[in-house]
Amino acid sequence: MIDLHLHTTASDGRSEPEELARRAAAAGLRTIAVTDHDTTAGVARARAAAAPLGVKVVMGIEITAVHASRDVHLLGYFFDDGDPELTTFLERQRADRRRRIGLMLDRLRALGIALDEESVRSEAAAAGKAIGRPAIARALVTAGHAENIADAFDRFIAEGRPGFIARQGAPPADVVALIARAGGVSSFAHPGKLGLDDLLPDLARAGLTAVEVFHPDHAGADSDRYMALAQALGLLVSGGSDYHGPASGRVDAMGVVHLPDVHFQALQAQAEIARRERRPGRRGPGL
Ligand code: AMP
Ligand code: ZN
Ligand code: FE
Ligand code: FE
Repeated sequence: MIDLHLHTTASDGRSEPEELARRAAAAGLRTIAVTDHDTTAGVARARAAAAPLGVKVVMGIEITAVHASRDVHLLGYFFDDGDPELTTFLERQRADRRRRIGLMLDRLRALGIALDEESVRSEAAAAGKAIGRPAIARALVTAGHAENIADAFDRFIAEGRPGFIARQGAPPADVVALIARAGGVSSFAHPGKLGLDDLLPDLARAGLTAVEVFHPDHAGADSDRYMALAQALGLLVSGGSDYHGPASGRVDAMGVVHLPDVHFQALQAQAEIARRERRPGRRGPGL
């Protein structure tokens, strides 16, 4: 089985990369992608632990882009994680995450909720780690302001809630192009969660490779609809469990949603083409 959407402690997942590898093997997965938010810091560790277990780890990431003040998640696969332009971009993304967490803590403080900034930030203190709202959610639970992670999001830090600060960042089309220049393929993550399907035709023209058809937040009808949409737009198909680990406030189900092999083969073939077409030093205009 194949699962191309998994998070580790390199971002907001609860499993260390090695533990993720063990859990993947135990769940019967043979090919996985570690797709942490705005970092690839967990990939090498997961790969080292997975290899002896017969599990292949594909290079992956989930990059947050911004469209009209809304977060749009783009998955990247098979790219060169040493690409200098990508590396610089991701360092900026992570710096912006740290800045935004500070602003959200300020916002909560103004609402009378003082959280321990040090302990919130300590989760992502190591180099290459990406901090995210779940770190604040956990602090809200620990301090007794929320019953659980989902409650913390619903009341304080989900989009439009009082502790929420909208992100600033690159448009989705720029992220699609960036992943392509780094030799990878891109997929529009969990479109059913977002409600911005109108973006897909433009992104397809901008070089988007795939749509994440298989995702736990997609009911059967959603998957069917996105499968049809992908076909209509000439896009490939990706999928995975978006596993964040135990006690993450999300479905704890690795491999329950998985990607049929035929779709993985198509992504891999497209990545081969992308790599061949990549011409270092011959980049597009305006770069
Ligand atoms: P951020 O990257 O800082 O924007 O935080 C977004 C992340 O928070 C998502 O990728 C999810 O992992 C997590 N998240 C968002 N909403 C919820 C929720 N209602 N319950 C649990 N986790 C959530
Ligand atoms: Zn996440
Ligand atoms: Fe996501
Ligand atoms: Fe995710």
